[in-house]
Amino acid sequence: MSRVLIIGAGGVGGVVTHKCAQVPEVFSEICLASRTLSKCERIRDQLKRRIEIARVDADFPDEMMALIRCFKPDLVMNLALPYQDLAIMDACLAAGVHYLDTANYEPPNEARYCYTWQWAYRDRFREKGIMALLGCGFDPGVSNIFCAYARKHLFDEIHTVDIMDCNGGEHGHPFATNFNPEINIREITQRGKYWEGGQWQETDPLSVHQPFDFPGIGLREMYLMYHEELESLVKNIQGLRRIRFWMTFGEQYLTHLRVLQNVGMTRIDPVEFEGRRIVPLKFLKALLPEPSSLGVNYKGKTNIGCMLEGVKDGKPRKVYIYNICDHAECYQEVKAQAISYTTGVPAMIGSLLMLTGAWMKPGVFNTEEFDPDPFMDRLNRHGLPWIVEDK
Ligand code: NDP
Repeated sequence: MSRVLIIGAGGVGGVVTHKCAQVPEVFSEICLASRTLSKCERIRDQLKRRIEIARVDADFPDEMMALIRCFKPDLVMNLALPYQDLAIMDACLAAGVHYLDTANYEPPNEARYCYTWQWAYRDRFREKGIMALLGCGFDPGVSNIFCAYARKHLFDEIHTVDIMDCNGGEHGHPFATNFNPEINIREITQRGKYWEGGQWQETDPLSVHQPFDFPGIGLREMYLMYHEELESLVKNIQGLRRIRFWMTFGEQYLTHLRVLQNVGMTRIDPVEFEGRRIVPLKFLKALLPEPSSLGVNYKGKTNIGCMLEGVKDGKPRKVYIYNICDHAECYQEVKAQAISYTTGVPAMIGSLLMLTGAWMKPGVFNTEEFDPDPFMDRLNRHGLPWIVEDK
């Protein structure tokens, strides 16, 4: 029986609230808090169970502290934006409360997401006797756990990993992003980066691509990008020779993105506009559909997984581990599209394993640092079944 405080009433926060509400024997009391109270009310009104809601601006540790003092959670789940990670970790540290998120910190004025800032909290969390679980969505999160599962059960040595994220769905809008538009566009417009031969290699943004036939979806063009789980997996999976991350994009999406970039709408530095300073990307976010609004007409599936190569019992082995998720089925269950669903379900499972003691130790961790088996078992039970194929 535990009290959980969920921060962020967007696409992912909505799914997490629904999924926690489905497990009352662990999440006995739930509070959903966000910057806009009406978004908490909308999610609360979709549930059969009673939950508490609150307004909080998590950029301010004092506001977070006041809410924590009032609700007294055992664990805070951060499903707001990466900008809030450190302020919420500070509040958890001060209050002695466990922490979980799905995306690593990045400073608002610089698109540079890396774990350095959050890993720096390790000693303080350990000394306080509390735990932080970082990046517990699908990718990062389940992608890391697939690697840990492969290391434990399928390989003696893992040499290469390709994480492949395909959204084969159609939402019916000319241009929209499946998670927070600002964070998504910052991520995609960065230079590509992957690990090979003991060092990081850089590429021009979205310049390296190849087709792949995704089970359940079909042939799609996937593009090499930098993604945050590469940083922790390079450290935590010994002996890797190469690790890359790929994501699929349709031509229509890429054409819109190119135009928006060319006219300066994806800039994150402030510009003067009619006597005010505005950040073009923040203005663009205000015009684009919210991720939580996309689910209603979404059709098609996602397929996210890992292709791994290495050695088992002295022989070369190649294995593909993946999940297929259906947008319309997610909407039917929790009023959300599959990107929010595939992120929210792992966040709920990570919290459940922490609160029940299966994944509990003081300090700051990434998901591949724990036994993957209870997590893999829960994925099957809570809506994200996975498949292992020898290639
Ligand atoms: P949304 O934009 O739909 O939701 C974000 C929510 O956070 C909004 O309700 C927003 O409130 C709220 N919020 C923003 N700033 C604050 C603040 N200062 N205080 C309190 N609440 C705040 O985004 P998503 O739900 O799509 O994404 C949520 C997170 O999940 C992101 O960090 C994203 O990077 C991560 N993610 C991780 C994935 C993974 O697989 N690991 C995949 C997809 C997403 P308001 O509406 O008032 O602005």
